[in-house]
Amino acid sequence: MSIEINSQKCVGCGKCRDVCPGTLIALGRDGKAFIRYPRDCWGCTSCLKECPVYAISFFLGADIGGMGGRLHTEKEGDILKWMIERPDGSVTVTEVDTRESNKY
Ligand code: SF4
Ligand code: SF4
Repeated sequence: MSIEINSQKCVGCGKCRDVCPGTLIALGRDGKAFIRYPRDCWGCTSCLKECPVYAISFFLGADIGGMGGRLHTEKEGDILKWMIERPDGSVTVTEVDTRESNKY
């Protein structure tokens, strides 16, 4: 498992670095985040949820039945969108109301 960080979008806030439980992410000299140990990522998706500019994608590799797709998030107000983009271009979106997600 691993993530990909889009350096064009990254604004260097460091939130992904701070939230990663494995301290796998660092900020480079250019102020952009990068993953130091991609093989050690276990896909908790914390960094995806924290990134304010949605610069991080998670690879859905064959090892987890993902067929090479990507998962990323976007947010509109209180709605967090989990988006799966498949290699064939199709997209599945699951919306979660963050006001409800920690209710129970
Ligand atoms: S998905 Fe989790 S383990 Fe992997 S880099 Fe992001 S925060 Fe770290
Ligand atoms: S949370 Fe997003 S914007 Fe902030 S450093 Fe990480 S990748 Fe860059």
